[in-house]
Amino acid sequence: MNFTRRALPFIGELCFLTLVLNAPPFAHAQAQTSILGFTPSAAARQAKIEEQFKAIPSPDEERRQHHIFTAEPHVAGSPRNNELARYIADQWRNEGLEDVVIRRYDVYGTNPKNTLLEMVAPTHYRAVLRELPIPGDLDLKNKSISSAWSGMSASGEVTAPLVYAHSGNPEDYELLRRQGIDVKGKVVLVRYSNPYSYRGFKALTAEREGAAALLIYSDPAEDGFKKGKVVPNGPWGPEYHIQRGAITYDFMVPGDPLTPGWASIPGAKRIPVDQAVSIPKIMALPLSWHDAKPLLANMDGPLAPEDWQGGLPIRYHLGGNRVRVHVKIEMDSSTQPYYVVEGRIRGAQLPDEWIVLGNHRDAWVFGGVDPSSGTASMMELTRALGKLAKSGMRPRRTIVICSWDGEEVGLTGSTEWGEQFADELRNKAVAYINVDEATSGPDFHGQAVASLAPMLVETTHTLKDPSGKTLYEAWRETSARDRREAKQTEEVADSNLADTRIGSGSDHTVFLNFVGMPVLGLGFEGPYGVYHSAYDDFFWMNHFGDPGYRYHTLMSQLWGVLALRLANADLLPFDFASYADNIRQFVNELTKNKDMSQLDLKPILDAIDEFEAAGKRLDESAGRALTSSTIDPKLAATINHGTMQVERNWLNPDGIPGRPWFKHILYGARFTYAHLELPGLTEAVEKQDWVTAKQQAEILRQALANNTKLVNDLNSSLNGEKAEAGK
Ligand SMILES: [Zn+2]
Repeated sequence: MNFTRRALPFIGELCFLTLVLNAPPFAHAQAQTSILGFTPSAAARQAKIEEQFKAIPSPDEERRQHHIFTAEPHVAGSPRNNELARYIADQWRNEGLEDVVIRRYDVYGTNPKNTLLEMVAPTHYRAVLRELPIPGDLDLKNKSISSAWSGMSASGEVTAPLVYAHSGNPEDYELLRRQGIDVKGKVVLVRYSNPYSYRGFKALTAEREGAAALLIYSDPAEDGFKKGKVVPNGPWGPEYHIQRGAITYDFMVPGDPLTPGWASIPGAKRIPVDQAVSIPKIMALPLSWHDAKPLLANMDGPLAPEDWQGGLPIRYHLGGNRVRVHVKIEMDSSTQPYYVVEGRIRGAQLPDEWIVLGNHRDAWVFGGVDPSSGTASMMELTRALGKLAKSGMRPRRTIVICSWDGEEVGLTGSTEWGEQFADELRNKAVAYINVDEATSGPDFHGQAVASLAPMLVETTHTLKDPSGKTLYEAWRETSARDRREAKQTEEVADSNLADTRIGSGSDHTVFLNFVGMPVLGLGFEGPYGVYHSAYDDFFWMNHFGDPGYRYHTLMSQLWGVLALRLANADLLPFDFASYADNIRQFVNELTKNKDMSQLDLKPILDAIDEFEAAGKRLDESAGRALTSSTIDPKLAATINHGTMQVERNWLNPDGIPGRPWFKHILYGARFTYAHLELPGLTEAVEKQDWVTAKQQAEILRQALANNTKLVNDLNSSLNGEKAEAGK
């Protein structure tokens, strides 16, 4: 999965809501001589390090690594995926990474034993549940490609009438009810997307509605021939492509369902399966449109509304009587080991301050884009970092790199690792940089918590896009195009380039929402219709996604330069005034078109103003300290430890109401995975639960006040030390 790609369907909303951050304190194209957080002499040294670093990743190596990772299907828990864990560990040791370990987590998981879908009335049709080979792509003849299955599906068997429920979201069932159609005990057929929602939310919704089973198919209107040419002639999904995926209720709590909030290490306490809130109780199966078409074509009942009609050349009906299907799913549910590979480049001066980087290794099949494009980029990144360290250019802080497992099933590997090391991370971690899908095309999409958005934008000035422009220029053009297409009037600016609205759906989740670490997420995107199918493979990448592996290479460079800037900065480049302005925007959106007479938000808005003022003062003091001279290392350590604490202070130990695992009060995700700002407060306001809303508002106000005091104290330390030095 990938949260940046997932955010795309919301781009219209996103652009409209994107706020105006404070102008970051840097000028365009001056990055060689001035870098946020660096003194001039350190910036000059850093620029040299970055030049050497960027010269190492090569398209040929990216392609070679990508071929290794996409050679065989490697789903979580499979022997091949575990073999790849050992391969990564060996490579990292050879490259000079330190403390390379493979960590084992024993987690609850599912594997398909037997799946069957047949239409038994009005005619017989047995679903293929397989992807057919296409000319030119020998990988598709691989015998170990799985048939259609949904991770974490329940087992069972049912023969029942079939109902078409559009996207399977709650409002779709409302419409069915108005048409007199009850889905209780029936099988429900829904499509992915339109609007996008995470398939686990579709499963929970169907389960709540009392459906007996859920079939989720890929409609050609969303990712197939209605979009453009299909594989092997174009990047869109062909007739037989199946979007696999888990339906875990990880929006309630991610990771191993039997250890919610603690790590699944040997000997850990485990809760009974029937108490695990993230395990679905409904059967689910994904379908290609080839298998969905005969079902849809035979359905009767009322004609589906115009916006429920799809890309197939038939009229879609709501069904409920004529078509009956037989679904049988046998899953092997058992505890199985997942493996996280961990390595590091130990910091030369500040080994106990960590920059954490990660990418998941497990794929539904070959994982051409998701995740092996990211894995190849990670391998070139570690090779380059290892080479730099060997030649004496060791980073000041420690860079920790992880290859996650089981991301595709409840974000499991990263969640267990984050839970295991939460205390240490809260003490030592500067930030987490996630790359899931490195590239499915040329369009850059960068996400960051607002305090790191300015440094992300600044960094893109120093990288060259394959188009010949800087990555910064290419990013601005893509962003402007997206805004035009979404009919947004707001101009592109440095302050609104980075996406600061962060939902769930990838491995950043535990670090942001549970540990309280600032996160960044990076990806290049393009037309991509084969997500989670067997067609997402080496052939697809070499024909459509990134034929020259230039975007893979750019990703290794960008990921590494960001890590090296965070690792080497004199003062960590957090911009809290930018953060404050973001939070103000979140609050303003919350009040839009709502009767807020029951809730006084003035104390929060005042607290935001004070946090913003404190952030500006610290920015100015830091700017003066950085330009005037070198900074006393002890003072820098005080400031940096303090600024690292700001993100932790957004955590509420009790979590958001109903979801105690999700502790961040600014960022959360809806059950659909969509971003949800001020989650506790927003959900209370949406329910018009004013008692809870007042409690959540006070928690937010208090956190703002705590961070204002912290930033003010840091500013005093910085100025006090300077005043003494000047005597
Ligand atoms: Zn992924």
